[in-house]
Amino acid sequence: MTAPSAGTVEMTIRFPYKRSLGPVIGAFMTGLAGQQILGIRNGSEVMCPPLEWDPKTGKELDHGALVEVGPAGTVVSWTWVPKPSAQHPLDKPFALALIRLDGADTALTHAVDAGSIDAMSTGMRVAPRWKAERQGHITDIEAFVPGEDPQGLDDSRPEEPVTMMPYNAEIPYTLPIAVNTARNAVALKEKRLIGLRCPVCSRTYAGERGFCPIDTTALTAEHEVQLPQTGTLTNYTIITPVQYPGQTETEPFARCMILVDDSDLVIGYQPVIDLPVEQVRVGVRVKLVWGDGDIEGWQPTGEPDVDDPDLVNRIY
Ligand SMILES: [Zn+2]
Repeated sequence: MTAPSAGTVEMTIRFPYKRSLGPVIGAFMTGLAGQQILGIRNGSEVMCPPLEWDPKTGKELDHGALVEVGPAGTVVSWTWVPKPSAQHPLDKPFALALIRLDGADTALTHAVDAGSIDAMSTGMRVAPRWKAERQGHITDIEAFVPGEDPQGLDDSRPEEPVTMMPYNAEIPYTLPIAVNTARNAVALKEKRLIGLRCPVCSRTYAGERGFCPIDTTALTAEHEVQLPQTGTLTNYTIITPVQYPGQTETEPFARCMILVDDSDLVIGYQPVIDLPVEQVRVGVRVKLVWGDGDIEGWQPTGEPDVDDPDLVNRIY
């Protein structure tokens, strides 16, 4: 079943992290920061980019066998990128190419800024265009350019060996917004709590659900009901935050299930307000507190607790 769409929203999941480089890749990156491209000797071959292991046999290579290669090289193979994405190294059309640098027997993948697809050919000669600001990363070479002469040479050399590399993994995606989700967002902005009552089984669901999971009846605007903004706490979890990088919570906090009055709608993972973690319990009567266009949390009303052993079974 596909819900009718009210447009789309662009989202990006980001996962920034640092990785350690080890003796060979670390030396390769340190070389790049100093405008030097290193390969590693493997028997009669020189591999660039260098590896710690022989890819054919798995035998460990001599980390002292690093040799300078290039800076110019020959395009072995290439593909044209007519519409670069945000993750590509250049923001104009370019070629992604396998480049065998002079003195190397294997090829390095990098961008070639040739200007147009017509300027690209297998066997063409290219040289690196260095960035002025280098950090020990493959993108210290902005791109390769046609010809024999490197561009952007300077006498800046890294003060310290490069041992770590920042890495920013990210996935951009487009999320369709269902009509019910859009209508529910409007209601929340107007500080209204809406539900959708199934005409077949009479169960009430949160306002953004598109269908009844019991009988698959489609739920639309005509099934909308205004819900009271009070309820009872039926279940909870106390979360003790682990202090990983990026964690903003420092103290234990509760996330609660709230059974909304006059309905069988349980809203999950709700924050509670003015209710210390050690006082969170099943049966507390609560009222909704609005934030900016959304539910901020639920606050005790001061009424006596609801004494109903069945409350703990109300998770959904
Ligand atoms: Zn139903």
